[in-house]
Amino acid sequence: MAEIQIQNLNKSYGAFHALKDMSLHIADGEFVVFVGPSGCGKSTALKILAGLEAASTGRIMIGGEDVTDLAPGKRDIAMVFQNYALYPHLTVRQNIGFGLKMRGATKKEIDERVERAAQALEITDFLERRPRALSGGQRQRVALGRAIVREPRLFLMDEPLSNLDAALRVQMRAEITALQRRIGTTTIYVTHDQTEAMTMADRIVIMRKGVVQQIGSPDELFNHPANIFVAGFIGSPAMNFIRGTVIDERGSLAVDAGGFRLPISVDLAAAASAYVGKEIICGIRPESLELAAAGQPALEVVPSLIESLGNEAYVHFRMPGRQFAVAVAGEHEHEASSSGTLIARLFDGDRPQAGQTVRLGLKANSSVHLFDPATEKAIS
Ligand code: ATP
Repeated sequence: MAEIQIQNLNKSYGAFHALKDMSLHIADGEFVVFVGPSGCGKSTALKILAGLEAASTGRIMIGGEDVTDLAPGKRDIAMVFQNYALYPHLTVRQNIGFGLKMRGATKKEIDERVERAAQALEITDFLERRPRALSGGQRQRVALGRAIVREPRLFLMDEPLSNLDAALRVQMRAEITALQRRIGTTTIYVTHDQTEAMTMADRIVIMRKGVVQQIGSPDELFNHPANIFVAGFIGSPAMNFIRGTVIDERGSLAVDAGGFRLPISVDLAAAASAYVGKEIICGIRPESLELAAAGQPALEVVPSLIESLGNEAYVHFRMPGRQFAVAVAGEHEHEASSSGTLIARLFDGDRPQAGQTVRLGLKANSSVHLFDPATEKAIS
């Protein structure tokens, strides 16, 4: 069993507190992704798990064993980094078998394990080649081969796909996910890319400034973000945020956002009732917006930019009158709604012309998210 317990982990570099009180339980066989913007502490957490950095305080248990003070080589962990660190003078076979050889495995055992790993990764044809005669994707597979051949109890992967081009990244992320499901080894994977996190993880740990913001399945994070940061980080294009006031219309609650009336769903009504007459921040996913039918509540807007993706378009609208969109981007590296702009994800029939005034509405059955403007926490 390789379940992992991370208990109140902290790391300071001098006066700088890079990791703040991280606690997490990972089940045996789980694929967990640490995600967040640059500098949020995800690599620091991974390095502490690997034993490459010492924790300032806190404890790590792997399979019930306290490994907090154990040397990296004694933790039975394999790491895969973005720079594959293959030995250029060794063949693929020798690269994959290197760790086993160092540990004194017999030639027969090394051959068998290398063969098995090579088959799993479909690199048997390249076993006698040297790394320079491989493509980036093939090299990344060799690096993975070197990790899986050791049959460790835990894989740690730090942005292993960031040196690959976009198409190969998509292919390799599917391959890594499928491989992990097949061999069932507990895996922690670090990335700043929310799409990678969403597509690969059983559970995502989303971090900001050294603090875990939320832990949950991709669906939980997407549908029930705990705060504005998570809501803006997960999903692409990012969620739109609009300031508004909660109003009570004969018992049914809605948000009045500068004349745009947004209904509040029944499941949020009890929590939202404490905000009647007060300001609130509304989160609307770009895919929840559509061109409104006549008679439907809508906002009259003019597209400021149309990004066409062929079958759909990301249409940017500058908000009329007072600016009530909220800037949450700031420190985020990813796209996020900037002040005064809404983004709608519209399909072919719905695509407006540049310069044409359109009526933008909320799709039926789509829900708005509500956030407290002071705490930025979700109201639910
Ligand atoms: P990235 O995606 O850019 O690698 P990250 O989330 O992995 O970011 P970390 O590498 O964990 O971030 O770094 C977290 C913070 O700790 C950063 O602000 C970084 O500058 C700081 N930091 C990391 N290592 C050290 C160090 N050895 N000395 C001082 N500060 C450090």
